[in-house]
Amino acid sequence: VIPKPFNEPNLHYAKGSPERQKLVAALNNLRSRLPVQVPARGGPSSSRQDTTTQHVSMPMPSEHQNIFAQYASAAESDVSAAIGTALSAKAAWQNMPFTDRAAIFLRAAELVSGKYRYELIAATMLGQGKNAWQAEIDAAAELADFFRFNVGFAQEIYDKQPTVNSPGHHGRTDWRPLEGFVYAVSPFNFTAIGGNLVSAPALMGNVVVWKPSPMSVYPSYLVHKILLEAGLPPGVVQLVNGDAETVTKAVMGHREFSALTFIGSSDVFRALYAKAAEGIVAKKYRDFPRLAGETSGKNFHLVHPSADIENAARHTIRASFEYSGQKCSACARIYLPQSQATAFIDAMKRELTAVKVGDPEEFENFLGPVINQAAFDKITKAIDSANGDSQLERVIGGTYDGSKGFFIDPTMYVSKAADHELFDRELFGPVLVAHVYPDAEFDEVLDVIDRQGGNFALTGAIFANDQAAIRKAEDRLRWAAGNFYVNCKTTGAVIGQQAFGGARGSGTCDKAGSANLLMRFTAPRTLKEEY
Ligand code: GLU
Repeated sequence: VIPKPFNEPNLHYAKGSPERQKLVAALNNLRSRLPVQVPARGGPSSSRQDTTTQHVSMPMPSEHQNIFAQYASAAESDVSAAIGTALSAKAAWQNMPFTDRAAIFLRAAELVSGKYRYELIAATMLGQGKNAWQAEIDAAAELADFFRFNVGFAQEIYDKQPTVNSPGHHGRTDWRPLEGFVYAVSPFNFTAIGGNLVSAPALMGNVVVWKPSPMSVYPSYLVHKILLEAGLPPGVVQLVNGDAETVTKAVMGHREFSALTFIGSSDVFRALYAKAAEGIVAKKYRDFPRLAGETSGKNFHLVHPSADIENAARHTIRASFEYSGQKCSACARIYLPQSQATAFIDAMKRELTAVKVGDPEEFENFLGPVINQAAFDKITKAIDSANGDSQLERVIGGTYDGSKGFFIDPTMYVSKAADHELFDRELFGPVLVAHVYPDAEFDEVLDVIDRQGGNFALTGAIFANDQAAIRKAEDRLRWAAGNFYVNCKTTGAVIGQQAFGGARGSGTCDKAGSANLLMRFTAPRTLKEEY
């Protein structure tokens, strides 16, 4: 019997606290080992023969002259070997009782919560540019939560059996895993996400080939190491580092490719979808592969005239600027009522005076760098063009400094044009654009919100005290967001509390942190017996 899952309590890293001391020690230890070396394939080296000679260096986002990690990039033959190893682990894994499979992930959660906590957090801080709190909620809390809650979700599915039998008939459901293997592709922005993308299918008895983003190879390597230490048979999750094209070619060219589980940008998901479709049409696969993706967003906050403006501003600062806006759920567009727009912007400015941008290892910094040069160039180019755009009034920030790390200041524009392209284009950075609407045109602004946002529909929030307005927004914005929040920010879904994911251009809405996602990795068999 599986214990009821619980959310990992967050540590707060107050000055002088033991956790702060332990984290500083872990940061110092990691710094002394830089650049960390990551093999092309995770797992015990005795069972692995990397054929690659190509090594890729990943700079540290907060100090780009320093290399954080170097990884060996898998050759196609490495990927094929990983697939072979995964497939040969399949039979034993599927036959292992669920309680034994579950125990491995529950042990892994304990290792995340205890032994590896500070190492994971330090890796996420230096490698992905998160400050201590952002790394804590990700690489410690959310990662442990995914392992614990996915066990509970899998149990929920296994418990589902037919509830009606007629006399002489007996029905059963055999929750089979998929027959082939699952391909998991995880993004840089959450260490925890890789843990979800592999544990969800593996708990349902599947074997997985996992390709993390090159920007998170080291924390992902640690997650994999933890799973092995917790007792995961080495073949079950095959961690492969390499360029997306080489890995994807080998994986999606394989007859036993049965599913993709993806979190990243909509454009990459589209390309993978197209590749799968090609393979399906060419009858390359035994199965029709399942494709589950959670992708981009251009998420909104809507402020109603009845809102608590100070609260709305505080939430907006967190939703738009925490982790420099590099969450799929970050708020990037806001709709302000004319009567409150000045008060709201003033409140934002006031709160932001206390906000510091800089080295994420300094505990007083709220914002660190963006992830790499490409992201920095893309976002700062958009900022330069916005600064010179007569349709946009810059009210906050609009400045950046890339000399040491990829630092961009929190930035906000008010658009004079109702339909500026900034309302549609995802930047994945700390840039917010506002539209000011006449108070009497609340109904109209709901249509504008639904129409804007670049066909993305991931998260959204309304700030209001007027219940009728809240219900109207909930109703009219039904398709504008997969996660809709009232009087709280668009970021920070908690596993087991808010299942996460959107539809339209934001993905297949299979909901990370719910049984829905695990369902995608089963091919249930129906059995009927007559007596
Ligand atoms: N689940 C996270 C949140 O609610 C976002 C995940 C992502 O960026 O993909 O903030």
